[in-house]
Amino acid sequence: MDPGSCYFIQPMNKEKRRRIFERLRAANPTPTTELVYRTPFELLVAVILSAQATDKGVNKATARLFAVADTPEAILALGEEGLKAHIRTIGLFNSKAGNIIKTCSILVAEHGGQVPHDRSALEALPGVGRKTANVVLNTAFGEPTMAVDTHIFRVANRTGLASGKTPLAVEQALLRHVPKAFLKDAHHWLILHGRYVCTARKPRCPECPLADLCDYRDKTPPP
Ligand code: SF4
Repeated sequence: MDPGSCYFIQPMNKEKRRRIFERLRAANPTPTTELVYRTPFELLVAVILSAQATDKGVNKATARLFAVADTPEAILALGEEGLKAHIRTIGLFNSKAGNIIKTCSILVAEHGGQVPHDRSALEALPGVGRKTANVVLNTAFGEPTMAVDTHIFRVANRTGLASGKTPLAVEQALLRHVPKAFLKDAHHWLILHGRYVCTARKPRCPECPLADLCDYRDKTPPP
């Protein structure tokens, strides 16, 4: 992953990290994904579809899809072409449809039609990498995992919360450095902060609630 404008710095001290998460929690006590889902299976499908797509676009498509097929068996019954008809507004829908069909077959054949609560079983599913497995483990099963996407990668490096040149390095640093009490919800807070405040091209530093705690040296100046 390209660190872009991120500035690599030493991880910050424990007290600052705690204060950052206290502020994020105070602003949003129960953060969650912006993907709409009702079951672990719907979440898994939505996350597979969300690669290089917006949550809003995915939600529009899954609202149509889940109304007619919300289990692996039902999606297999639709078939790949039937599935594509529901998700063709989403980027890379052809390959995503293929992966979802293969994933549904494995879920039915090997997991009784259920999403496995197990990292290696999740990562063995087509279209499911470490990040998707982390989202499912965290959001569907309540595990304190850290799904490092482009937003978390940027926010962690910029602020100094956790530095790393790869998503895996940032994930491991965050797991080491985020205080335990905040670990389960940390990835949602950091994604939302990156999506809406600490944006890629021009972070909104003048209005950022973390500005006095953030170690980024190239903060956007006040207007
Ligand atoms: S002060 Fe700026 S760089 Fe730091 S977290 Fe806030 S928006 Fe991001």
